[in-house]
Amino acid sequence: MTQTGPRPRPEVMKIAAYVAGESKVPGVNRIIKLSSNEGAFGPPPGAQAAYATAAAELHRYPDGGSVELRRAIGARFGLDAERIVCGTGSDELIGHLCHIYGGPGTDIIMSMHGFTMYQIAGTYAGSRVLKAPERNLTTDVDAILAAVTPATRLVFVANPNNPTGSLLPQAEMERLRRLLPPDVLLAIDAAYAEYVESPDYDAGAKLVDAGDNTVMLRTFSKVFGLGGLRVGWAYAPPGVVDALNRVRGVFNVNLAAQAAAVAALAEPGWVEKNRAHNTEWRAKLSAALEAAGIKAWPTEGNFILADFATAARAEAANAFLRNRGIIVRGMAAYDLAHCLRITVGTAEECGLVAETLAAFMAEQKLHA
Ligand SMILES: *Cc1c(COP(=O)(O)O)cnc(C)c1O
Repeated sequence: MTQTGPRPRPEVMKIAAYVAGESKVPGVNRIIKLSSNEGAFGPPPGAQAAYATAAAELHRYPDGGSVELRRAIGARFGLDAERIVCGTGSDELIGHLCHIYGGPGTDIIMSMHGFTMYQIAGTYAGSRVLKAPERNLTTDVDAILAAVTPATRLVFVANPNNPTGSLLPQAEMERLRRLLPPDVLLAIDAAYAEYVESPDYDAGAKLVDAGDNTVMLRTFSKVFGLGGLRVGWAYAPPGVVDALNRVRGVFNVNLAAQAAAVAALAEPGWVEKNRAHNTEWRAKLSAALEAAGIKAWPTEGNFILADFATAARAEAANAFLRNRGIIVRGMAAYDLAHCLRITVGTAEECGLVAETLAAFMAEQKLHA
């Protein structure tokens, strides 16, 4: 493209735009969307009611400090509300952290198959984004440490990681924090914390409390079922809270989103129900994939990385699913083109995707 109009900063043109999970297939009426790790049960009923009630107040600006929401989050998770900052999804906060601590001449480190938003936000900030190799599709602490230089400012670890589903053990996360230089911010992105069953898991609050250089990111987009409203939050040391509050959107979390998020936290049994469903169907779907001859990587999230061994087979499986109205996530952008990421949906959806992939694999055998 020849540039005649205003020129973006060169960093901007290095960014490959984020490709969100699709929700439509042309010509197919009934769609099963298992491409964006949205909760299996929709939004909590109480959150829907709060959102409807908020409609009458839409002429009002929201509370720019999200005070009631921060109090509710603090009460729910046993955290000091003063150390919480809410954002327009955790995406907004990821972006601000990159701009606050990164910038030209600095490095940001993520793992090889980490969440692509880190790469987009870090590049936009002007940092060099380095991808540390993983071991067995799991964050490798030694590889991250080996990538550290005096230019390193920020390290992102999603735990569990999206899209691999792998978990970094708490002892390894603590070792990473201990061996990183103290002026390097460690951002632990625990978007899927509620789905983890590993007994020694800590979503990040322990390390936040232990020093002044770790931040935990959380979201209402997954287990709380509010991805459409864009609410996320950070739990951070005072210095990071102060910096985020200087630069975030003044009214970043809108009025209806704040009300719905407060109500979602108050929904009785919501997280327990979702976690129990996810644990059961994550295991059943993984077993069904394996039975069909597809490797299912171990996962602590509400999604499964299905490994088809070759990119050609993963693409064929994706097309086969799409033709039957089932949308999952292709993984080429994550350098995992031989895999598809499948969200754990309702029991019926899990059954359908398993059945369809079994049919696909049977057809592959016939043609082999
Ligand atoms: C889904 C997800 C988020 C949440 O993003 P929001 O902006 O809060 O919707 C953050 N990090 C990871 C790793 C995710 O998968």
